[in-house]
Amino acid sequence: MEKLYYKNTHITDFEAIVMDCQEDEKGRFRILLDRTAFFPEEGGQGADRGTLAGDEVLDVQIKQEQIWHTLATPLAIGNSVKGHVDWAQRFDYMQQHSGEHIVSGLVHAKYGYDNVGFHLGAEEVTLDFNGPLTLEQLREIELAANKAVWKNLPILISVPDPSVLSGLEYRSKLDLTENVRIVEIPGVDRCACCAPHVETTGQIGLIKVTNVQSHRGGVRVNILCGERALRDYSLRQDSVSSISVLLSAKQEAVAEAVRRVKEEALQEKLRANALQASLLSLQARALPGPELSPNAVLFTGELDNLALRNTVNDLTLRYPGYCAVFSGDDNKGYRYIIGSSSKDCRGLAKLLRERFGAKGGGTAPMVQGSIAVSKEKILSVF
Ligand SMILES: [Zn+2]
Repeated sequence: MEKLYYKNTHITDFEAIVMDCQEDEKGRFRILLDRTAFFPEEGGQGADRGTLAGDEVLDVQIKQEQIWHTLATPLAIGNSVKGHVDWAQRFDYMQQHSGEHIVSGLVHAKYGYDNVGFHLGAEEVTLDFNGPLTLEQLREIELAANKAVWKNLPILISVPDPSVLSGLEYRSKLDLTENVRIVEIPGVDRCACCAPHVETTGQIGLIKVTNVQSHRGGVRVNILCGERALRDYSLRQDSVSSISVLLSAKQEAVAEAVRRVKEEALQEKLRANALQASLLSLQARALPGPELSPNAVLFTGELDNLALRNTVNDLTLRYPGYCAVFSGDDNKGYRYIIGSSSKDCRGLAKLLRERFGAKGGGTAPMVQGSIAVSKEKILSVF
C-alpha cells in the first residue's frame, strides 16, 4: 500500500486498484487499495474526507497495518477506481497539526512538559501537557508561536537512519528506533509524526490559544489555526460588538458594563422583593380574621424564601389552622411554604403531592415545595 500523502500532501486526485473489499459489521464496505492519498485516523488526527469511485468515503482506518476506506457500497476487486480527497479539510488539518507542533515544541523547550494527548477533529483541537500552565504563560507561547509563523520557516520531513536517529533529540510518544518519520521546524521543534504537514510555517496563518483547563495533573489547551482562528475571531467580534451596542459601551469596556448591569439588576430585584414583601403584609392584614376562617392563604409574585417564611411565621401567631403563602403565577407555577401552630403540615403536603403532583416536604410545623397548578385549584384544597 503506497501512501501518496507522504510523497506529496497536495495530491487530491488519484487512481488506484481495488485490492480487497470486505463487508463490515454495520453492512458497510471496507476497501483496500494498492495506493491511497487518504490520510487515515491516526495519532489523534481525524481521517480525510472525500470520494472513492464517486461515493462518499465515510471513514478511513488502519487495520492490520493497512489503510481501509469505508463506503456504503461495495467495489469490485481488481477494478481501477478514482479517488478524491477533500482539499479544504486536508489543508485545514495540516494547518492545525503544524501549529500544534510549534506550540508543543515551544512548551517543551520552555517548561520541559510533554504533549501527552492530542485531538484534532472537525471542530476542536486539544493538546494535553503533563504540567501546569496559566493562560498568561500560554499567551507568551502563543506570541512566540506566531513569530515562528512570521519567519516562514520550512517544515522538514525526514526518515533518518537509526544511527543518525539515535543521536537526535526529538519529541516522541512511541519508543521506535526504525522508520521514524521526523518532522522538523528549525529552531522550534523536532518531533516524530505520521501526519501530513504544511510546507512552511507561513501557511499555518494565525495560531490562537482559546482555552486552558486543568486536566489529569496537567492542562488541556485548545488552539485554533489558520481559517479556524480567523472565523473564531469574527464570531467573537460579532458577539462583543452586539453586546457593545446593547449596553452602549465601548467594545473594550463591555465586561465592566455587564458587571454594572448585573449589579443594577440585583438592586432592582432587592427593591422589588421589598415592595412585594410590604404588599404581602398588607394582603395578610386584609385577610378575614381567624374567627371567620382558621386557615390563612396568600398568593404573591416572585418573592425570596426568607420573606415567605417570615410571613408564614407571622400568620401562624394569629391563625390556628394552615397558614400558606404561594409565590409565583399560574403560568410558571408556585413555590409554597405552609406552616401551622397546631396541625401537622406534612399531611397537607402529601395531599398536594397526590392530587397535583406537587414537590416538597418538611416537618410537622412547616413544609415547603413547588406546585404547578392554578391558584383556583390550590384554593380548592383549603
Ligand atoms: Zn504530529
